[in-house]
Amino acid sequence: MDCLFCAIIEGAIPSKKVYEDEFSYAFLDINPQAPVHCLVVPKKHISSIDEVSEDNRDTVSGVLLAIPKIAKLLGLEGGYRVISNVGEDGCQSVKHLHFHILGGKKLPETMA
Ligand code: AMP
Ligand code: ZN
Repeated sequence: MDCLFCAIIEGAIPSKKVYEDEFSYAFLDINPQAPVHCLVVPKKHISSIDEVSEDNRDTVSGVLLAIPKIAKLLGLEGGYRVISNVGEDGCQSVKHLHFHILGGKKLPETMA
């Protein structure tokens, strides 16, 4: 399968790793939309939140459990925003489930 984030997890494409565990891999976004912009992805390929099911609940919960740990590593004591774009209308450009972790400043209220 031709998937950018699978290639990053495998190390075939370089990334700035922030965190890794059994279920998840986190790295800095190449085009940051905030002073701190990190992506956390499941190591197992899941296309989007739309594909979340009982079959992958351990993987998905593993990724969610990693988010507060990653936020702590990134020094986001003041808070942060978690976003996951889904499909065409959600403007999802990479079809491998990922959560954007954004912070490092007071984010605008209007940012979806
Ligand atoms: P989305 O639009 O929600 O699918 O988000 C995809 C994100 O992946 C965007 O914020 C991109 O900047 C980011 N991205 C694309 N290629 C890379 C890469 N090679 N390394 C890190 N982040 C990337
Ligand atoms: Zn993938």
